[in-house]
Amino acid sequence: MDLHIDGVTLVYPDGEQTLTAVDDVTLHVPSGETTALLGPSGSGKSSLLAVAGGLTRPTSGTVTFGDGEPVFTPTTPPDDATRVRLTRIGFVFQQPQLVPSLTALEQLELLSHLRGRKPAERRARALELLDAVGLAPWAHKRPGTLSGGQRQRVAIARALVGEPDVLLVDEPTSALDHERGTEIIELVTSLAREQDAAMLLVTHDESTLGSVHRLVHLRDGRLV
Ligand code: ADP
Ligand code: MG
Repeated sequence: MDLHIDGVTLVYPDGEQTLTAVDDVTLHVPSGETTALLGPSGSGKSSLLAVAGGLTRPTSGTVTFGDGEPVFTPTTPPDDATRVRLTRIGFVFQQPQLVPSLTALEQLELLSHLRGRKPAERRARALELLDAVGLAPWAHKRPGTLSGGQRQRVAIARALVGEPDVLLVDEPTSALDHERGTEIIELVTSLAREQDAAMLLVTHDESTLGSVHRLVHLRDGRLV
């Protein structure tokens, strides 16, 4: 489903003053495609993703999926935002943020469980996705015994386990070497396309961008 960010502004309180982290951004990400968001540190990339994913309410503007009603607005109740986040959005962050005590398979099953899937379905789907990210042999390993690249692959599989409409990926390769980083970007881009998800990818590394459909640049919170 297409992702529409319409006139989004995000203002943070900053002592006596305010800081405009996102400044009137309008962006359309078609389903099945990846739009890469580039910009210097502090330009508002993570803030824009936080609004697009309902982690932070916009100060003004809206986020809409497909041609439905807006899902995130300045007045969206937190419980509504959480439900949309859980059922329709997948996130991959800079750090994989895995649960140390759970195996790769269990990380995925936990999310499926939260999304209300039946146990048999959960396991089959989780194994299928671990296979898709090349981790089938590591399904029963905990994060502590996996490499950085493998952990990020688990995080990617977990983000896709609920078949999200929208995939939001924030600098997933910053802890990886270049070759592994490129592989990860290609992997997540192709999985998003297969699932027909709209994907917004934040990156600082232009050389990993061979597989994306569109590039947009952010500077001081504005698209340039
Ligand atoms: P990027 O991801 O491009 O590095 P961010 O979205 O993290 O940029 O930050 C944009 C601006 O907003 C920066 O000036 C940053 O200091 C500020 N900022 C980010 N998060 C917060 C917050 N929770 N509270 C106040 N200011 C913030
Ligand atoms: Mg950031």
